[in-house]
Amino acid sequence: MLSVRDAVQHMLDSVQPISESETVFIADAVDRVLAQAIHSTVDIPSYDNSAMDGYAMRADDVATPQQTLTLVGQALAGHPFRGTLQAGECIRIMTGAEVPSSASAVIPQEDTVVDANRSEHILFTAAAKDGQNIRRHGEELKIGAPVFAAGHRFTPVDIGLLASLGIADVSVHRRLTVALFSTGDELVAPGHSKRSDQIYDSNRFVLHAMLERLGYQVLNLGLIPDNKQEIADAFMVASARADAIVCSGGVSVGDADYTKQVIDELGAVGFWKVAMKPGKPFAFGKVNGTWFFGLPGNPVSATVTFQQLALPALKRLAGEREQDPVLIQAIAGEPLKKRPGRADFQRGILRLEKGENRVYSAGAQGSGMLSSLVQGNCLILLEQDRGHVEAGETVVVQLLSTPIK
Ligand code: AMP
Ligand code: MG
Repeated sequence: MLSVRDAVQHMLDSVQPISESETVFIADAVDRVLAQAIHSTVDIPSYDNSAMDGYAMRADDVATPQQTLTLVGQALAGHPFRGTLQAGECIRIMTGAEVPSSASAVIPQEDTVVDANRSEHILFTAAAKDGQNIRRHGEELKIGAPVFAAGHRFTPVDIGLLASLGIADVSVHRRLTVALFSTGDELVAPGHSKRSDQIYDSNRFVLHAMLERLGYQVLNLGLIPDNKQEIADAFMVASARADAIVCSGGVSVGDADYTKQVIDELGAVGFWKVAMKPGKPFAFGKVNGTWFFGLPGNPVSATVTFQQLALPALKRLAGEREQDPVLIQAIAGEPLKKRPGRADFQRGILRLEKGENRVYSAGAQGSGMLSSLVQGNCLILLEQDRGHVEAGETVVVQLLSTPIK
C-alpha cells in the first residue's frame, strides 16, 4: 500500500498542466487560474495622499501643541491643492486627497479648534510628527514588483487588487473539463422511487458540487451499472471529451468491482491502494490520454479521497500552483479510536475552549456516514503509524473548507 504522501507525489509527478489559456475580464476571473505572472505596472499609491480628514502643514510648524496656522486652501480627493505651503500655513485636506510636496504632516480634524469668527486661523491642539497620516507614494507596491505568480487562483480580493492596478483583462488557463459518473447496480437517482435493497446515488452530487466550486466544467455521465461493457463505454465517452475522469464505486476487490479491470484493459492503472482511512481502494491511471481518478464508493471515502488525493493532481492539471493546506494543532478533547497502519482522516469538531484548540469526534466514523462530514468542521489527521489517541494528546487538524464545505 502506498502512503498518502507518496500517492499524491506520484500523481503530481505524472500530471502536466494544460497549456491552453484565454483572456478574461477581471470580473469573470474569480476562481480562474492565472497563466502568466503579473507584475505591477504602477506604484500604489500613485501619489502621497492623506489617511485622514484634517489639515496638512509643514511638521516643523507644529513641533509642539497649541500652534495656530493660517488656512490657505484645500485639497479634496480628485481635486489637489495647486499652490505651495509656506511656513505658518496649512490647508484643509480630506482622506485620499494628494498631499502637496510642500507639506510633511497631516493633523486630524479631531486635534484642531476652529474659531467661527476667525476661520482662517486653525489652532492645533496636538503636535505633528514628520510624515504623520501620509500614505506614501509606492508604499504598498512599486512598479515592477511581483503581484501574482503563474498558477495563482483568483479570489475576490485579488480581483480588487488587479482593478487597483488598472488591469482589466488577465490571461488564465482554460477551464478543466472533468467527466463524472457513479457505478453501482444498487444506485438510484434521487427523485425516483427505489426498492428497499437500493440506495440513492449521493457521490455524484457531492462530487459535482465540489468540481463546480473549483471552477471546472463537469461532464456528468450519470449512473453506470456494474457491467464491464457499460463501464468501458463510459470511459470511452469520458476520455474523448474530458481532461480528467472522476468516478466512484467499483475500485475495490469485490465480485462486481469492474472499474479497475476495465482500466487495466483500456489503459493503465498507476496504483489502486492507498494506506488511508476512509479510503484505501483508490485508482489512478490513464485511459486514452485522459487521467482518471477512481474513488471508493462509500460516500465519506469518496469525498475525502477526492479532497486528499485527486484534488492536488486535478489542480496541477488545471495549471494551479501547489499550496499546502493550512493545518492547526489541537488537543484531543476525548479518546480517538485508531489502529496503526493507515493514515486516518477522522471527522472532528474543533472548538476554542479556554484559549485552547480542542477537537472532538464528529460522531460515528463509518465511511458510509456522510452526516459525520455534515456535522464536523474539520478532519483530524492521524498519522499512519499512530495508534489509539488518548484525551489530552496533541493532534493535527485541517479545517473543512472549499470545496467540501
Ligand atoms: P464500492 O466501492 O462500489 O464497493 O461501494 C462501496 C459502498 O459504497 C457500497 O455500500 C455502495 O453501495 C456505496 N456506494 C457506491 N457508490 C455510491 C454512490 N454513488 N452513492 C452512495 N453510495 C455509494
Ligand atoms: Mg459498487
